[in-house]
Amino acid sequence: MKGRKMQRRSFRVRSVKPASPLSFIVALLLLAALGVTAWYLDMNDAPIPTIDADTVDAVAPDSGAETPADDSAGTSDETPLPTQPSYPTTIPAAPTALPTSEPAAPANPMSGFLLGGTAYADGSNASATEQKEDGSVTQTPDSTSMPAPDATVEPVPGPLAGVKIGIDPGHQSHGNNEREPVAPGSSETKPKVSSGTAGVSTRRNEYEVNLEIALILRDALQAAGAEVYMTREINDVNISNVERAQMMNELGVDVVLRLHCNGSENQSTHGIGLYVKSSGEGAAESQAICEPLIQAMGETTGSRTESIHIRDTYSGLNWSTVPSILVEMGYMSNPEEDQKLSSPEYQALLVEGMVNGLAEYYSMNPPARLITVTDDGAVGE
Ligand SMILES: [Zn+2]
Repeated sequence: MKGRKMQRRSFRVRSVKPASPLSFIVALLLLAALGVTAWYLDMNDAPIPTIDADTVDAVAPDSGAETPADDSAGTSDETPLPTQPSYPTTIPAAPTALPTSEPAAPANPMSGFLLGGTAYADGSNASATEQKEDGSVTQTPDSTSMPAPDATVEPVPGPLAGVKIGIDPGHQSHGNNEREPVAPGSSETKPKVSSGTAGVSTRRNEYEVNLEIALILRDALQAAGAEVYMTREINDVNISNVERAQMMNELGVDVVLRLHCNGSENQSTHGIGLYVKSSGEGAAESQAICEPLIQAMGETTGSRTESIHIRDTYSGLNWSTVPSILVEMGYMSNPEEDQKLSSPEYQALLVEGMVNGLAEYYSMNPPARLITVTDDGAVGE
């Protein structure tokens, strides 16, 4: 916590008024003894006043600041939090032994980072309550590890400040087999949306896992400063792939991540794959974003990554006029990967990789609207 100064108390030796010659001598001796003691304690960094000062001072900042430092999975801000002040080695046990700060957490633990709440593709905004419900249901590491907002600390812009990111959690609880053109102007059609694959081991539906991870990603991106737009935040919707693409086009997001899980006849197939279209509006930038994205996802998860797939068979990609990437986060046909895709630990790693990859891309390629030119001609963000 900035601005806080550790205060150290010091001993003060108070003089005593002698009442008689004898007591005067006794008092002198006492004063001498006290003086020596005080000097000794001072030289040895008196333990009692140090503990007092630090205990009082350490409680407030540490209970909030230590948690995110210990558990930063899912956030892209790699900047380490200020390290612990040089407390004596006997002290740090005290803050960690304190009750967690969760009960005191405000309704929206990320209010310091939000630019205006969750924006839905239809333009409405989610209330703080809805966000909290989502966060608590999904148990995201981010929502539980965010520091409690401090009224005296200005929100720090994250690495994705101002970047508009769309998330399309693939599929929905019931597929829609009506057909729609696979691309604008195409005579070829595909079902509007399917219910996706399912886990060979977990038996969970892909649409559930996609949404579960999407909500964690949403929170992590918001914590990194991004404006996040979701095509859906519940499973029971009926939105076709073309409609999802059109939502994001109208919002003018900088990129859409379409979250999916893969399936293969071969149960040993596993790993992360990214799919983009070959040409047309947004294609080149989609491909450029893929590079840091897949690299970061490979780094955080340690999983195998496939080379980037260029495909023109996905209506959701073909109808996008903004950069759009289909993220196949893993194979639910592989029993081990299927289990991992449903584990909170692995989900957090996937999210961390996606946030890191996007943060890296946009730190080098900020959206044009976020670049400002100052009076002296310097270009800043
Ligand atoms: Zn899918």
